[in-house]
Amino acid sequence: MKSQIAQLRAYTPGLSPEALKKKLGLTIELHKLASNENVYGPSPKAKEAIKAHVDNLYLYPEPNAPRLQAAIAEYYQVTPEQVVFGAGLDEMIVIISRTLICAGDKIVTSEGTFGQYFHNAVVEDANIVQVPLKEGAYDLDAIADAIDDETALVWICNPNNPTGTYHSAEAIEAFIQKVPSHVTILFDEAYAEYVTVDDYPDTIALMRKYDNIAMLRTFSKAYGLAGIRIGYIIAPLPLAQQLNVIRPPFNTTCLSEQAALAAFQDQDYLKQTVALNQKEREKFNDVKTTLKLYPTQTNFVFVETERVSELDEALLKAGIIARAFPNGVRITFGFPEQNETVRQVLEQF
Ligand SMILES: *Cc1c(COP(=O)(O)O)cnc(C)c1O
Repeated sequence: MKSQIAQLRAYTPGLSPEALKKKLGLTIELHKLASNENVYGPSPKAKEAIKAHVDNLYLYPEPNAPRLQAAIAEYYQVTPEQVVFGAGLDEMIVIISRTLICAGDKIVTSEGTFGQYFHNAVVEDANIVQVPLKEGAYDLDAIADAIDDETALVWICNPNNPTGTYHSAEAIEAFIQKVPSHVTILFDEAYAEYVTVDDYPDTIALMRKYDNIAMLRTFSKAYGLAGIRIGYIIAPLPLAQQLNVIRPPFNTTCLSEQAALAAFQDQDYLKQTVALNQKEREKFNDVKTTLKLYPTQTNFVFVETERVSELDEALLKAGIIARAFPNGVRITFGFPEQNETVRQVLEQF
């Protein structure tokens, strides 16, 4: 076994609402707002697409989801070969790490960010530098300063999970200009569709200027397809070709391709989801609480507190399952009445 595996533990998901209810002896209904899932679900067209393709299940899927690949390439005006799929971004992070990290390489990211960057870098025996967050956001200057000749790649989660904060196009481009060209910068944009500010980066436009950057997107969040597992990277062609060497040939499924394609082609539905989320998100600007809520451009909010377990418990008693972190609690936005409950708990806490 690789000795570094002993340092890691398998991902433990939170308890299901039923299991948690039983464990705590609660009688009220519990709502899971812990994994940033989209409570509105996917476009109805995605469900129809799945039903329409169940007769093909005995066939292997076509590698790398060619219809979806073509649709995404056209939308972003890149070549189809630049688009590579994973069974969710989780798998894409595995593929990227396996492809780019040699044992002993340095990789740089932030503290307080998506855990899979660290997890997979440990597996590849990297030296990992995690730069502390600055007021809940990536400290891009300190990250640039941490990069050196040994650095293979940098993970930038924008907007960041679990804090919800984002960096502007201007800040991101200034950062890219500081990073030496031998370092690949991976922009994980799992929540990009939820962003409504005008100054969010157009990473594809930046890719035309800088050849060491790539953009990751998923169908799990705003598209509401977390259960079917599909996400993608748009990368410079040489990197995309290298990733395809590592990507298992049949990693996405016929049904995941068809569902994602239908969802991607239903941009009207996506806009509705994003508008509903924005409306709910804005209501959190007026919460009367002494707790610190980080500004968010996503479908969740991070509440900073030293009393994490108390807040988590108060939410549970009100029927809300959130996700606890060492310095606060992340709460996914749910339906309006669930969000109202969350705000009441925050105000009374
Ligand atoms: C949810 C999430 C992912 C992984 O999503 P998949 O369901 O595997 O596509 C990746 N990065 C971030 C920041 C996430 O929040």
